[in-house]
Amino acid sequence: MFLKRELLRRPDMLLLHCPFCGPRNEIEFAHGGPEKKRRPDSTSDIEDEMWIEYLTVSRNPIGPVAERWWHVRGCGGWFTIYRDTRTHDIIDEGPL
Ligand SMILES: [Zn+2]
Repeated sequence: MFLKRELLRRPDMLLLHCPFCGPRNEIEFAHGGPEKKRRPDSTSDIEDEMWIEYLTVSRNPIGPVAERWWHVRGCGGWFTIYRDTRTHDIIDEGPL
């Protein structure tokens, strides 16, 4: 228990609020990246260039971004937070 409390106090790490477990240090999580557009239902309805872009291009936005996090060393749940990539401030916690 002492170790967990000490980890929560480290100012150089993000403190993420898992909706299931509460506040935890970022070392318990895996970053899933910025939220992507919804996957197309059918690949036959879109141009090849759009499909290639969906599969291979990762956004790397500057400023506020909605991003996915996985509580890999905890409950295993996924959730979304809104974080400013310039300051690492967590602006809001979004829906699951
Ligand atoms: Zn959790």
